[in-house]
Amino acid sequence: MKNDVTHTPAASRAVERLVTGMATSDGAGVRLTRVLTHDLQRRLDPFLMLDAFRNENPDDYIGGFPDHPHRGFETVTYMIAGRMRHRDSAGNEGLLGPGGAQWMTAGSGLIHSELPEQEEGLMEGFQLWLNLPAARKMVAPSYRDIPSQAIPEFDAGGGVRVRVIAGESHGVGGAVTRPDTEPLLIDVHLPAGARFTQSLPAGHNAFTYTYRGRVRVSGTEVPDRRMAILANDGRESVAIEAIDDSRVLIVAGRPLNEPIAQYGPFVMNTAEQIRQTLDDYRRGTFEAATVQSL
Ligand code: FE
Repeated sequence: MKNDVTHTPAASRAVERLVTGMATSDGAGVRLTRVLTHDLQRRLDPFLMLDAFRNENPDDYIGGFPDHPHRGFETVTYMIAGRMRHRDSAGNEGLLGPGGAQWMTAGSGLIHSELPEQEEGLMEGFQLWLNLPAARKMVAPSYRDIPSQAIPEFDAGGGVRVRVIAGESHGVGGAVTRPDTEPLLIDVHLPAGARFTQSLPAGHNAFTYTYRGRVRVSGTEVPDRRMAILANDGRESVAIEAIDDSRVLIVAGRPLNEPIAQYGPFVMNTAEQIRQTLDDYRRGTFEAATVQSL
């Protein structure tokens, strides 16, 4: 690969590292790739996890994610193909379809399930975990289903289509904004040869994930199913150029710089808070939680 720096705008962040992720399974045997793994939580603060799943074989997804708890952070599920039904301990229910998202604030805790609503065909999507600041980890749990048609979209020229799930891109506000960490989550579709530039605040941690095709990120080639961690080099944008017809997620957020104590689906700041969480869970306080639909 030719890394031609003359094609890289001065303001575009360099790629610090490419990450393939780790093949694993979670829930009741759902095959997935954990792209943002535990060892990257500090580097990519405020993001705690990114799972990517793209399964054709129903055996690899049919079990879904039966009842399980969460506390202390937010989960963002973004579906590309397939349908997933969620239910929570407060009796709420919703269906996530292609192009739609669910933004769930686990806060003080809830129990939910995420189960496929199909017996065959492709199931593809992502789940991103976004941390909450210490002061907001125990807020009342809530969620919002965002159907595909409610996600703001715009044409960025040259055939580039951008879907803004969170944050802002070229003056278009996303479906979700969060003041604490100002997360950006956009899905960019580019025909071969097209270019797209996204501005990124210099202090925010940022990465891209290519899930179709092949692109150049600030001049570095990034193949399909690869995360590119963007350097914190003081530059304030990222430039993407599609080599093939491509689709790329761009994710960024302001780091919290707070201690992270994780025990499975619970993410707090201290070991004592994790002990308290396990205690609360055993006592059934999660089951009794009221979950607000927003
Ligand atoms: Fe979950």
